[in-house]
Amino acid sequence: MQASERISGILGGGSDGWGLFNKAREMIAAGTPVVELTIGEHDIRTAAPILQDMHRSALGGHTGYASVPGVPALRAEVARRVQERTGVPTTSENVMITPGGQSALYAAHFAICDPGDRALYLDPFYATYPGTIRGASAEPVCIQTRAQDAFQPRASDIAAHAEGAKSLLVNSPNNPTGVVYSRATLDGIAQVCIDNDLWLISDEVYDTQIWEGEHISPRALPDMAQRTLVVGSMSKSHAMTGSRIGWIVGPVDVVEHLINLATHTTYGVPGFVQDAALFALQQGPGFEEEIAAPFRRRRAIAKDVLAAQNTVALVPAQGAMYLMLDVRSTGMSGEDFADALLDAHHIAVMPGESFGQAAAGHVRVAMTIADDAFEQALKTLCAFAESCAAKT
Ligand code: PMP
Repeated sequence: MQASERISGILGGGSDGWGLFNKAREMIAAGTPVVELTIGEHDIRTAAPILQDMHRSALGGHTGYASVPGVPALRAEVARRVQERTGVPTTSENVMITPGGQSALYAAHFAICDPGDRALYLDPFYATYPGTIRGASAEPVCIQTRAQDAFQPRASDIAAHAEGAKSLLVNSPNNPTGVVYSRATLDGIAQVCIDNDLWLISDEVYDTQIWEGEHISPRALPDMAQRTLVVGSMSKSHAMTGSRIGWIVGPVDVVEHLINLATHTTYGVPGFVQDAALFALQQGPGFEEEIAAPFRRRRAIAKDVLAAQNTVALVPAQGAMYLMLDVRSTGMSGEDFADALLDAHHIAVMPGESFGQAAAGHVRVAMTIADDAFEQALKTLCAFAESCAAKT
């Protein structure tokens, strides 16, 4: 008996990009301390009051099947929040609650792509994107952005692949680059979508982590609300990665289809998790800023460390919990550099090549350890890059 081609082909062959990460894990398991800067997870836990609210809800009996599209109060709160932040009229009917942003990405592609449809996404990309698209039986089509443009996508590059495609997936603030798309970039993207009748799937899970510039949701651009599905999540904004709670915001008719999909797949999100998510959202922007503050601080530390040397260049770190460092002056690939850094100094960073081809010769650093250790690790990384560059 064999599994389906669809599921056995989900990774598309080739490397899954996690080689370095796995090597670091093996070193840790063998007892070697490793400075872990690979994964996008906060170094704080979900705040106790949120967990207390979850506990209160569960003990209060919200342990049965919850409403599949989401409990009404949470849908309404997400709609209110989205409208307040974007100005786009949004009601509960535009919102479906999902078990995290990842399942929202899958559902969004499933909802708008038929088997074999071409679904565009941008390189460098968050690791799951191509597999998510394949999982929804669409054909992933990767479009390179360029280091020389600080990874802001060019509308002309997207347009060159857009004819006959069904959707375009964008992510700002961006994982892995830390870049926030400018208004000009997003205007260009919107125009390509309109000209080519594309759906836009906008992954905005880092929207509370903005260090420079502003977060613009492309759903708010002219004529875009009817062709945009926004993916949101509490994972990054509220340090709730393990609670698996997020949403899709989009046109009412698509949300109705998405609810049918959820009825036949997830059957919704646990009620006590939804109640805790509502409580967390009600803590307001001050709480979200507290969750983002460590990354804001470490990004400032990184700017100082990097300003003191000339070997490693920092891609504009405008948002999200990552830095993308250009190590091309060492003459090494990102993979070789990350591997050598791990061997020499037990510091684990992600090779840019783990996220596609556009960030070759770069490494991604997650700003997810304590400030002092973070500063020290960056200094060591820069000194190591200098010693590698001196050998070329
Ligand atoms: N999109 C991006 C760009 C991400 O980095 C992540 C998680 N790392 C997700 C979506 C999914 O997040 P979650 O499922 O935890 O909401």
